[in-house]
Formats: sequence, C-alpha cells, structure tokens
Amino acid sequence: MNFNEYPVESLMFITNRPEIVFTHGKGSWLYDNTGKRYLDFIQGWAVNSLGHCNDGMIEAMDRQARTLINPSPAFYNAPMAQLAGLLTQHSVFDKVFFANSGAEANEGAIKLSRKWGKKFKGGAYEIITFDHSFHGRTLATMSASGKAGWDTIYAPQVPGFPKAELNDIASVERLITDKTVGVMLEPIQGEGGVIPATREFMQQLRALTKKHNLLLIVDEVQSGCGRAGTLFAYELSGVEPDIMTLGKGIGGGVPLAALLAKAEIACFEPGDQGGTYNGNPLMTAVGYSVISQMTAPGFLEGVRERGEYLKSHLLQLSEERGFKGERGEGLLRALLLDSDNGAQIVEKARLMGPDGLLLNAARPNLLRFMPALNVTKDEIDQMMAMLRTVLDSL
Ligand SMILES: *Cc1c(COP(=O)(O)O)cnc(C)c1O
Repeated sequence: MNFNEYPVESLMFITNRPEIVFTHGKGSWLYDNTGKRYLDFIQGWAVNSLGHCNDGMIEAMDRQARTLINPSPAFYNAPMAQLAGLLTQHSVFDKVFFANSGAEANEGAIKLSRKWGKKFKGGAYEIITFDHSFHGRTLATMSASGKAGWDTIYAPQVPGFPKAELNDIASVERLITDKTVGVMLEPIQGEGGVIPATREFMQQLRALTKKHNLLLIVDEVQSGCGRAGTLFAYELSGVEPDIMTLGKGIGGGVPLAALLAKAEIACFEPGDQGGTYNGNPLMTAVGYSVISQMTAPGFLEGVRERGEYLKSHLLQLSEERGFKGERGEGLLRALLLDSDNGAQIVEKARLMGPDGLLLNAARPNLLRFMPALNVTKDEIDQMMAMLRTVLDSL
C-alpha cells in the first residue's frame, strides 16, 4: 500500500508524524504499510505492557464484546467490580474509580483531594507538584505539570499547583501553607526523562505530609502496573500513599485508567464524580486480563530480571562510548547521551533496514526504553545490536 492512499490530510494537525502507517503488530514487533517491521521499544508510549495484540487481552475483549459492552455508568457490571477487587487486593488502597485516560484519573485525584480539603481541612485546595513533572493534557493536569512552557500555552492556568523540586524536601516544606491539601508526584518522572524520586525523598515526603495532615498522591500512570519491576512503584520506597492514579499499562493498549484511594479519603458524594464510559465492562474486562497476567507467579520477577539485563547492557554501552550512564527502574530506563542528538538517533533507528527500531528521546540528551514487560532477552540483545549500528553511523 502506498502512503498516498491514506487520507491522512483529513486528520487535524497536532504533531509531525513520519510518512508511514502502522498496520499490525505482535509482541515486540510492529509492521508498517510497506511491510517493514520494527522492534518496538516505545510500545504505544509505555502502554502495551504485554506487547502488541496479547492473546489473553484479545480473548477477554472478544468474550466481553459478545457479552455486554455498556449497561451505563449508573449500574454495576461484573468486570468493573472484578478489576476493582483485584487492584485493592494487590495494593494498599481500598476504593477504585475507573477513568478513560491518565489525565482524567489525575483530574479525579485533584477533585478528590479538593473535596477532602473542603470537608476535613478548612477548604485547603493547593496541591504541591514538581518541576519537570507530567500529569496530563487537560487544563488542570497541564497546570499541575511542571513542563517548561506549559504555563503559557493555554493561559490562564488552573490555580493551586505550586511547584517544588524533586528530591529536595526543603523545597516542598517551603511551599506548605494552610491552603495546602496535598503533594502529588510521579515516583519516577517519566516524560521528564526517567528520574526516580529517591527512597529517602519518598520517606521524607510521607513523614512531612503526615506531620501537616496532607495527602500524598502518587501519579503512577507511567511507573505503575509492573513497569518498575514491582506492581506499583510506591512499593520500592516502602511508603503508603493516600491516593494513586493508574493509566497506560493498566489497559495494555486500550483506554483505561484508575483512581485509587484509602477508604477514609474516598469522600465523594453522589453527583461529585462520574463519566459516561467510566468503568465500562469492555475496557475493565481487558484490564482484568492485564492485571491477572501481571500478578501471575513469576511475572514481576521476570520484569525485574530483564530490567537488570537491560540496565547492565546500557551501562556497558555507556562505558564503551563515553556516555553518561543510565537510570530508571525495572523496564522504564534511560540512557544518558553525551550530546543533544537523541532525536537524530531516534530517526535513524526508525529508518534503518531491513528492520527498524522504535525508540524515544524523552529529552534531547537521552534515550528512553519502555519495551513490553514480556520482552525477551533475545529481543533486548537485538535492540542493543541495532542501537550500536545506529550509533556507528552517526
Ligand atoms: C502519560 C501520563 C499521563 C497522562 O495520561 P494520558 O492517558 O495521556 O491522559 C499522566 N501522568 C503520567 C505520569 C504520564 O506518564
């Protein structure tokens, strides 16, 4: 199929896309309209946690599509309850609200915090967030994000999100006033360049928020659902947050997200929160398949093992080429380059042949790796070989 046969000009322009159309995928491989295949270390932006077209997900989607697609959010359905039960069983949270995107789950976390502040903390509503953080693309979540330039694109912003510095507890403490209701952070900043909050910082944050009766909110849209080698990244620091949001990997590629809270925080009243598609059985049935596969014996051990494998290979490459090392947790990792040529490497890797390689440069001076959680060591070896070929060609 020729690219010109696709009416892509009918799509609203939002970003520059290469002149290829992806047609199908399986596991770690994605195929385009010319038949070329690509080893995929982007995976829908850390979304396809079980790779492309996972058999268990297909089976769950097919079965649910033939059973019940949507009875309305005003009624219970079986998959929504089953997935909520699975999530509370495997986390420190008691209550779950399903959403359709990470941004929407974060909006829910912000609303729940403001509601809690109104009810229990004298109307406090400010949520301290962090420089370089990313929480989504709605007006409130853009305002919560610490991405450069986002304060002006759609000004005026939603007020109430003062910014602190990640891993600097004094910068958080300085911002606390009687208006503060909580602190929200990504346990590993994803879009910011794969920057983990340290274990020490997470523990300091928990102590500080307890002391001031503030909510600790973790945005695990990217770091959660097995990505960090544990089911949730907060487990790595040994703290118990009050609120958590999930997105991306929870649906394994389909639009599904979740807002989780401790029972005593979950204070919505009828009419406060909702949404037409929220908790629909088609998506929650897929989510149930995804989380069931992730919590099966041995799965997360495998993620940790392959995370270590990828880490050691990236470190070796870094040493070989005089790069600046690597960082991350589990299968969310970044290779720190010695110049701002990330975008050039990404482009060359996609264009190389016969097979291409899909990578992401979250920042100009680094490459981010977010393969399927069931990627094989052999595929990691193939990726490293392809990356070396690209680096040699620069
Ligand atoms: C991707 C992401 C979001 C936004 O999720 P969408 O599904 O794109 O709305 C929010 N927070 C983090 C940490 C993310 O990585």
